[in-house]
Amino acid sequence: MFDLDGVVYVDGAGIPGAGDTLRRLEDSGRRVLFATNNATKTRQSAADQIAAATAFVADPEQIVTSSWVTARTIAGKYHGAFVVGEPGLVETLQTEGVRTVERWEAADVVVVGLDRELTYSRLRDAALAVTVGGAAFVATNTDATYPTAEGPAPGGGAIVAALARATGVTPQDLGKPTAAYRALLAELSEDPVVMVGDRPETDLAMGKAEGWATVLVLSGVVTDPAHVDSRYTPDHVIPSIASLPDLIGV
Ligand SMILES: [Mg+2]
Repeated sequence: MFDLDGVVYVDGAGIPGAGDTLRRLEDSGRRVLFATNNATKTRQSAADQIAAATAFVADPEQIVTSSWVTARTIAGKYHGAFVVGEPGLVETLQTEGVRTVERWEAADVVVVGLDRELTYSRLRDAALAVTVGGAAFVATNTDATYPTAEGPAPGGGAIVAALARATGVTPQDLGKPTAAYRALLAELSEDPVVMVGDRPETDLAMGKAEGWATVLVLSGVVTDPAHVDSRYTPDHVIPSIASLPDLIGV
């Protein structure tokens, strides 16, 4: 089970050796799954990005995104969703039957993910939907940052935090490592699982919550394992995904 950003690619550029590792695992008969908190993509567009970055061809069914978990979790529960997020989140919600609305007055839920084109007016409308309209507040994830080539950029959680601050409302978080996210993963995975990630409080926390072996790669948000909170101490630390075949012997 692999996280994507910081593990398989950074900002769309493949981690050297990623494709080779993924192919060797599949060739050895192991199932490869991807679990990301990135809500900007559909499962198909995440598969496209994996293929473009690593030449590994993944089926969308192998990919769990926080946008998909959110869509599956809230489908049928609300009449209109006001979205702070990118087109991949909107499309994922609509595919799972969630009606999205453009006017905050028509929303009974506000769904928030990373939006790299965020405007103040969008944030204001989302806040009004919650405070004036009484809409529920749902976060696809609360990741503070996401890794880019230049360094950590504000993540979906930074936008969630702005809205939480403005409304005084704590959102329902559906991202990794929450129970909602893990429940969907459980439908796809089969023990024993090795969780490979770069972010301790999501990837390693999820692995520990599920009783899985955990591997920290140093190609993403953590470059010094000494900085990992002791609650999330991984079973193994490797420089990058390229070292994984040696670690597990494939
Ligand atoms: Mg990551």
